[in-house]
Amino acid sequence: MELGSELSKEQETIIQVILANTSSAMKISNTLCEHSDDKVLKADEIICGLIYRLMVPMTDEEMTTSLQEAESLMYDDDDDDDEGEQIEDSEQIEDTDDLNTIRKVKPNNCNCDICSKVRVCLLNFNDYLPKDELGDKFKSSILETCKTHNRLL
Ligand SMILES: [Zn+2]
Repeated sequence: MELGSELSKEQETIIQVILANTSSAMKISNTLCEHSDDKVLKADEIICGLIYRLMVPMTDEEMTTSLQEAESLMYDDDDDDDEGEQIEDSEQIEDTDDLNTIRKVKPNNCNCDICSKVRVCLLNFNDYLPKDELGDKFKSSILETCKTHNRLL
């Protein structure tokens, strides 16, 4: 008898959805960064990306793409070299200037569809009630991220 080393189908699906959401949120963060004045990926962009993804549901198409990406992340055993590019990314996240200052999350000034929606989401975040348990988890992890980076919402 094998002890619970295997994930159940249900657990697998949950992990995939989490990965899909996270990778999609990262894409939003990158867009926000590209549309910002300083083009530096800061905690603000990361947090805004997560908030956007929590409050603006993925389209079916986005979900399919993200799930495929999540799946290939989970089951990738071929020649993709993961030479720690992720680590490099996380180094750029903080600009050390305001690392110790507690301040409100600052969205960029861009008026495109995504950036405008992000500002609306920011305004409504505190009153937002997630629709399911997974949403609850995302909301609390966003609050946790804010705490870590000294950001207020
Ligand atoms: Zn924009």
